[in-house]
Amino acid sequence: MLNAFTIDVEDYFHTEAMSAAVPANKWAGMELRVERNTWKLLELLERRGVKATLFFLGWVAERCPQLVQAAAAAGHEVGCHSYSHRPVYRLTPQEFREDTRRAKDVLETIAGHRVRGYRAPSFSILQNMEWARHILVEEGFIYSSSSHPIRHANYGDRLGMRLPYRDSNGLWEFPMTTWRVLGQNLPVSGGAYLRILPASYTALGLRRAAAAGEPLMVYLHPWEIDENQPRLNAGWRSCLRQYTGLQGMLGRVESLLERYAFGTVARAYRVAERSSWNQKSTAMGSAIL
Ligand SMILES: [Zn+2]
Repeated sequence: MLNAFTIDVEDYFHTEAMSAAVPANKWAGMELRVERNTWKLLELLERRGVKATLFFLGWVAERCPQLVQAAAAAGHEVGCHSYSHRPVYRLTPQEFREDTRRAKDVLETIAGHRVRGYRAPSFSILQNMEWARHILVEEGFIYSSSSHPIRHANYGDRLGMRLPYRDSNGLWEFPMTTWRVLGQNLPVSGGAYLRILPASYTALGLRRAAAAGEPLMVYLHPWEIDENQPRLNAGWRSCLRQYTGLQGMLGRVESLLERYAFGTVARAYRVAERSSWNQKSTAMGSAIL
């Protein structure tokens, strides 16, 4: 089975954990490290012969257009990770539409093709936020991968669906993979959990999840392989979350790539087959599927 390998292309100062330490009006003055970190991941993917989905922050794409173009040229899927990384549940519908449209326009202009997948910052489209999914459909998205159905202090949706589904708007949602144990969904599929928790735990959780028959949805961020990133002055919880396990992350990612077959979200979840997109938009072609 093909699983989905995804990268949320943002920098170390864009995270929710660092949002108080570096508000958006300070971003322009920060050292940009996302480009070299993403290149390292692209090199790793190339070495392993894996295609991935890269959900780009619009703000990053504007500053590193060559990165978007290189990813698209190498056969990776370009997705959208919003423009300004604000959690969707803090936005009005109008603000969400404007942010999404701005990011999608930037990405499509640079990539030269349509962008069909959306990942919300901090997995912030919750089960009851039909309005946000409706806007995604109106803005031309076919799928979202914006839900992490776990209990978590800062994000996650404990009422979220665990397996892929199509909502009443016709939008597909592909949630982050979780491990179901005693009625609870445990996080196993990426980011801080891959960095911080014992490798034996995530390996077992992913193995169990894979046995259920749906593709795995794995995610990480370029800054998570950057042990030399500047240490920002945030609270101890935020620092623990952001700076633990950076050194070993690239090795953990590589061993994941060895263990499972990975591809883009579109390919792993057969987006074109699930939706009627191919019939509606044959002119777009399916080269990147
Ligand atoms: Zn993000």
